[in-house]
Amino acid sequence: MINYFIRERVNRRVYQLSDALGRRISYLRVSVADSCNLRCVYCMPASGVRFTRHGEMMSPQEIGMIVGAAASIGTTAVRLTGGEPLTRTDIVEIAAEVSSVPGVTDVPISTNGIFLKGMAGQLHGAGVTRANVSVDSLKPERFSSITRGGDIHRVLEGMREAADAGIRPVKMNTVLMKGVNDDELAELTRFALENSYPLRFIEMMPLTSNVSFQPELFLPAMRAKAILEKDFRLSPSYSKNGYGPAVYYNVEGYDTPVGFITPLSGNFCDRCNRVRITSTGRLRMCLFGDSMVDLVSVIREGGGIGDVARLIRECIAFKPEKHHLDIGKTSSETLEAMSQIGG
Ligand code: SAM
Ligand code: SF4
Repeated sequence: MINYFIRERVNRRVYQLSDALGRRISYLRVSVADSCNLRCVYCMPASGVRFTRHGEMMSPQEIGMIVGAAASIGTTAVRLTGGEPLTRTDIVEIAAEVSSVPGVTDVPISTNGIFLKGMAGQLHGAGVTRANVSVDSLKPERFSSITRGGDIHRVLEGMREAADAGIRPVKMNTVLMKGVNDDELAELTRFALENSYPLRFIEMMPLTSNVSFQPELFLPAMRAKAILEKDFRLSPSYSKNGYGPAVYYNVEGYDTPVGFITPLSGNFCDRCNRVRITSTGRLRMCLFGDSMVDLVSVIREGGGIGDVARLIRECIAFKPEKHHLDIGKTSSETLEAMSQIGG
């Protein structure tokens, strides 16, 4: 029924949603859970953070309605993220709700991959199109130490199963950490390219939980690129490799690109095309801006998709121009862990 109304709305009028600076907003990142089965050192404190209780989180139907509202004003891609989205037992239902919204043509997922094995086929069947999986090291002990307990073998098996099930591409995300994994960049790259997993190296962003050691571990992407160039010949790639801010390079001898995401050394806010929904149904216009608007309450108080769409449109006009992060300086007072927002 919900989808009938959305379809009518989309058929009548397809909006192109832009913010006050003319940035077209077509990409929504939905954090479906702020909890996680891992505790990556750069993302969360060892003690974890206060997780949202199950009843406070959006239900699959509420997620479907909010996505429906966003799609009615121009959203075409919806990433399921977290925290760890696969900790939700109803993740397949969530994926099915989201992928059946008219106008949504792409439903990628970000996951740590630990629970991917055994459920990749179901996710693909429910409409998940692509996957990004965090792999900060291929060395079992090191991986376990970075993630505080993760098993890299399970992750790699999950990635293989996902690609075989038709979730393509499966991308690899590696957070760059000086003195932790910078001796492994060539090995990670070779593994990714030989398995046709596009790889993105991400600069470590400061959060209140890591700000004390982030400057020490920070490795600029261009330094990582220089390290890679000892082993690989890189040339700029002009192909479209997704919606994100990564700058990609072709690698001689391989069909798969490697990319760099530079939130600190190369600000890309002028190209930002996204807004976020937290697991409690709040719209967040910028990863590092603290203002949030409660969307799910509109639904819980009896509002419809049109009401939510109007609110999203009003809020997007106030999307901040840029974040004010710097090495050792976070621009959010409330963002203790990336898992709380969906990185
Ligand atoms: N749990 C999933 C995962 O690990 O992929 C999805 C959520 S996680 C918050 C999304 C991405 O954010 C991951 O690639 C993770 O490495 C990245 N991330 C988390 N904290 C970060 C930080 N402080 N700086 C840069 N990237 C970070
Ligand atoms: Fe969990 Fe992902 Fe954060 Fe690691 S990066 S603690 S897997 S949410």
